[in-house]
Amino acid sequence: MKKSRLFTPGPTMVPEEVLLEMARPMEHHRTAFYRNMYKQVHELLQYLFQTKSLCMLFTGSGTAAMEGAIVGCCPPGHKALVIRNGKFSERWTKVCQAFSIDHTSLDIEWGHGAKVSDIQKAMDADPKIDTVVVVHSETSTTALSDVEGIARLTRERGALLLVDGITAVGALPVKMDDWGVDVYVTGSQKAMMLPPGLGVAAVGDRAWERIDSGKMPTLYNDLKAYRKSHETFDAPYTPALTLVRGALKALQIVKERGLEDVWAETAMLARGTRAAAEALGMKVYPADPVDSVTAMVVPDGVDEGALRKTMREKYGFQIAGGQGELKGRIIRFSHMGYVDAFDTIGVIAALEMALAAQGYKVTIGAGVQAAQRVFVEAMK
Ligand SMILES: *Cc1c(COP(=O)(O)O)cnc(C)c1O
Repeated sequence: MKKSRLFTPGPTMVPEEVLLEMARPMEHHRTAFYRNMYKQVHELLQYLFQTKSLCMLFTGSGTAAMEGAIVGCCPPGHKALVIRNGKFSERWTKVCQAFSIDHTSLDIEWGHGAKVSDIQKAMDADPKIDTVVVVHSETSTTALSDVEGIARLTRERGALLLVDGITAVGALPVKMDDWGVDVYVTGSQKAMMLPPGLGVAAVGDRAWERIDSGKMPTLYNDLKAYRKSHETFDAPYTPALTLVRGALKALQIVKERGLEDVWAETAMLARGTRAAAEALGMKVYPADPVDSVTAMVVPDGVDEGALRKTMREKYGFQIAGGQGELKGRIIRFSHMGYVDAFDTIGVIAALEMALAAQGYKVTIGAGVQAAQRVFVEAMK
């Protein structure tokens, strides 16, 4: 029997307990049942983001929360700096364009994360910038940005910092309040171990001040509406109740396990996968690799489409290819959420077999062995 294993950086695998919870009979949302459930989910979200701020739960994918965040935080009279280092950071520019938000983009080389010095220079050159947008983990290139350092700078300069943490929150160390991030965004289908359909924006006090100071044309993703309903633990529109139900279960699992442990396991899986790549003679793509997703460069002579097809159809492993200019050039493996060392050893074995099937010179077992060495050390 073939089993299906999802290694794409969203959607990711969902634990059985969460799936079962979501299969329970429908309830109505204007009830004590929903309010009580949402109240618990909210507390757990604050734990996930390491914040005392309000965490607003949008019905929609991560992009809904991105849109709500930037539209609220950049009313007329304010200017955003968007750091672009991949497909997802480009999406932030698109949102700015769609809502005529005053912004400027800073392009940095793909595979690199945003650094304090890049932002400092851009802010020095344009004193109108009072809002900075960075992607913590640029999923398309698997590059890591220095959010902690950037937050220090934006605090110093009195600018707001909006962070796309969609493949960071719940996977990498994220300390919203300690670092001083104003808005952190995530989505349900990455490290939250849920199906797609929920976006979350954790919104700090300085961001709320900005949101309250202006007016922007928005309705469905209006943070103020979400905040108003939150006062009574309600949602402005029908919430994705089934997913909220799943979120309670998934976040309880994370809380019981402890975030530090989850972060450490994610990092271990990334280290093992990078060691496997090296042992197979494959290059890890980014200069600043993140621990939630690993991208490997497809070796010359290997057909990326055929490789993924073999892995998916013959071996039951779904991995991701590249996006935009990286299409056909890289393959990506998720380390987020409901995935462990043994799933990861499995996907590395499948990769070796799919490479061998194409005639790529590979010592079968070399990647698996390299990953196992990392895991033995880390799991002692
Ligand atoms: C997945 C993802 C998004 C959001 O995409 P949706 O399809 O709207 O969920 C945004 N940013 C990053 C970094 C992501 O990985």
